[in-house]
Amino acid sequence: MSAMTQPSTAGAEPEQVRAQLADWVRRYWDPAMALRDWRQLLLASGWAVPSWPQRWHGRGLPAWADELVGSELLRLGAVGVPVGSGTWLAAPTILAHGSDDLRDRLLAPILTGEQTWCQLFSEPGAGSDLAGLSTSAVLDGDSWVVNGQKVWNTSAHHADMGMLLARTDWSVPKHQGITYFALPMHQRGVEVRQLRQMNFHASFNEVFLTDARIPAGNVIGEVGQGWQAALTTLAYERRFSALQRPGYSPAPGRALDEARAEADDHFATYSWYPQRAGRPDLVIEHARAAGVSDNPVVRQAIARLITLQRASTWTAERARAARALGARPGAEGSIGKLAASNIARESAKVHSMIAGAAALLTGPDSPLGGVIAEVLMSVPGQSIAGGTDEIQKNILAEKVLGLPPEVRVDRDVPFSQIRHRG
Ligand SMILES: Cc1cc2nc3c(=O)[nH]c(=O)nc-3n(C[C@H](O)[C@H](O)[C@H](O)COP(=O)(O)OP(=O)(O)OC[C@H]3O[C@@H](n4cnc5c(N)ncnc54)[C@H](O)[C@@H]3O)c2cc1C
Repeated sequence: MSAMTQPSTAGAEPEQVRAQLADWVRRYWDPAMALRDWRQLLLASGWAVPSWPQRWHGRGLPAWADELVGSELLRLGAVGVPVGSGTWLAAPTILAHGSDDLRDRLLAPILTGEQTWCQLFSEPGAGSDLAGLSTSAVLDGDSWVVNGQKVWNTSAHHADMGMLLARTDWSVPKHQGITYFALPMHQRGVEVRQLRQMNFHASFNEVFLTDARIPAGNVIGEVGQGWQAALTTLAYERRFSALQRPGYSPAPGRALDEARAEADDHFATYSWYPQRAGRPDLVIEHARAAGVSDNPVVRQAIARLITLQRASTWTAERARAARALGARPGAEGSIGKLAASNIARESAKVHSMIAGAAALLTGPDSPLGGVIAEVLMSVPGQSIAGGTDEIQKNILAEKVLGLPPEVRVDRDVPFSQIRHRG
């Protein structure tokens, strides 16, 4: 069998898939090869994203196969597709809404790691009210000309491509005049400025678009139908709100070295994300180090936090099981996101209770080497990124509980008639 052959594994059971993958890895994995060459093999064999169609680097397997194959590749000492918003957000959006031409052109460079992506959704006047965005795109011959400003764009400073939402029709209600583009970032009309955060990291950017050009063929979905594609991206974003570094083998080899360097580079931007999640994993160690692990009030607070965390893990596992059966990400993403915010806040409270005023100190001789202070400064970000807590509650109230929708006076009028903050 050549590496290009994609035998039918439709209807396969997890054990069969595991065995076929192990057999394939035994034949083709060579840690001495270049990472890109290895990933080309993964794409050609359909093991890159096994739940996708065969034409686009998959094997048409059920949704559970992606997670199974990803973790099996690591267990076998090999490497899978890269992590990042290209793989997690742009690729599934392009697969779901893009033309065949876009799928052909854009998916492979994402999955080999040749091109990285950032998300250009939020604007100074449009965050929670994303559909109120006012960056404009006007068709000029065979390209769109874009003007406006985006903000809070994680990793835009080293991205090759941007998932861009821009307004292409001001005469229709706000959700109907938006178009979703694949924006080439390396051009004169795109200026990226890094923002310094209160926890001293700089993972966000402002992106200024001044007569930036996008080829006409880079529209993802239909012109004016970008909101539908944006909802797909947002649903995946809630699902992947916790970023995890892949556990690559420490063995030598060019492909592994390159994969580790790629992950180092990628996760440098996200080094504060574990602190953003509140570090509940550190509360027991912290209580012991501070000599308060026998304090009954502290013990109760820790028990409450761990209970919350366990319950949330089970909810996430139920959601994962539903996805494995083919369900698209839905309201459970909002529940998981809200739970993550509550756990982060609760954990920051417990760490503060343990450390007292010293929680505010930074530097090597402060609690847990400054990690606790970083937790306190980073936790607010958890309840904002990917849609705030209030927005998740609105989604759950309307979509799950069937409560009456918020009063929205600007929903049905042409966008040009709305006073906006742009
Ligand atoms: C860590 C992090 C990473 C991010 N990465 C990106 C990225 O890569 N790309 C990108 O485009 N954006 C990114 N963002 C931006 C993020 O999507 C926005 O910050 C978020 O959508 C909120 O928008 P806003 O900041 O404009 O706040 P606003 O929308 O102005 O909200 C202000 C407050 O009002 C509340 N509020 C607003 N509307 C309602 C309502 N209808 N009902 C009840 N309460 C409401 C909100 O909950 C919030 O408390 C990131 C943000 C963070 C923190």
